[in-house]
Amino acid sequence: MREIDLHTHTNTSDGSESPENAVLHAKKLGLRAIAITDHDTANGVPAAKAAGEKYGVEVVGGLELGCGWHGREVHMLAYDIDPHNEKLNSTLEWIVTDRDERNRKMVGLMAKDGIRIDLEQLKIEHPGSIIGRPHFALCLIKAGLADSVQDAFVRYLDPGRKYYIRRHFLSVEEAAQLIRGAGGVSVIAHPMQYRLDDEGMTELMERSRDAGVSGIECYYSGYTPEVCAQLKALADAYGFCATAGSDWHGSHKPHIEMGSGINGELNAPYELLAKLRERER
Ligand code: AMP
Ligand code: FE
Ligand code: FE
Ligand code: ZN
Repeated sequence: MREIDLHTHTNTSDGSESPENAVLHAKKLGLRAIAITDHDTANGVPAAKAAGEKYGVEVVGGLELGCGWHGREVHMLAYDIDPHNEKLNSTLEWIVTDRDERNRKMVGLMAKDGIRIDLEQLKIEHPGSIIGRPHFALCLIKAGLADSVQDAFVRYLDPGRKYYIRRHFLSVEEAAQLIRGAGGVSVIAHPMQYRLDDEGMTELMERSRDAGVSGIECYYSGYTPEVCAQLKALADAYGFCATAGSDWHGSHKPHIEMGSGINGELNAPYELLAKLRERER
């Protein structure tokens, strides 16, 4: 049964739709609950919750944190965090400042190649958004240097590419502790996106379990039934809850639909959320 989507982005980070419109979209799709999981911020949650009351959709307040992992990134989803937690908020502020510094360096690199990006203008164009590489991707498309967001990343913005500059990250352990301290539960997002070998996946599972992570996102846009089954087996082996999320970004990733993914592969029942919440208590 297609009832929930525990991984969605709004224009509070790099999605195209406002929190209210994201919830309205969920309503139109007939979903019972969605989690708002913007990158490094829960600022869209209050508006989404208000919309949830209005439209009769349950809104789970969350966010998605990038964590450092052997020079790369692993993403951690957080659910039901206290938005007023001081440590959480000061850390999120630090992340924004750090990303801003990184953004300025990237703008400098692009300027050397004659690509002019005005950060202040971007902030005006995307009010309330955390400005990051996805916004640079939109600029590169506008400049005719890339065909799509994905294309812009592959050509210019992914690690190792010309304009990539690494920002600073929390470790998986620090992120899990931060989330727990703010009363929330944490889930490892899209475990197959990191292209880990067996040993790497074992390390991710073990360290996440030891850090107090509650779940892994077994059902994700584009994952085949075989991959999902593999992840569900890992979840069972390590005592994690299995969760499901599309990583919906609205028109910024038009191939991904809320609740159903890329080819309708997502069909998450409400039970997955109920089980995660049981863990919380
Ligand atoms: P930033 O934190 O500013 O470095 O940007 C990271 C965000 O860019 C991620 O959370 C994704 O939403 C997006 N992103 C990263 N890699 C890709 C990619 N290959 N294709 C499309 N979006 C990506
Ligand atoms: Fe994103
Ligand atoms: Fe992610
Ligand atoms: Zn995401």
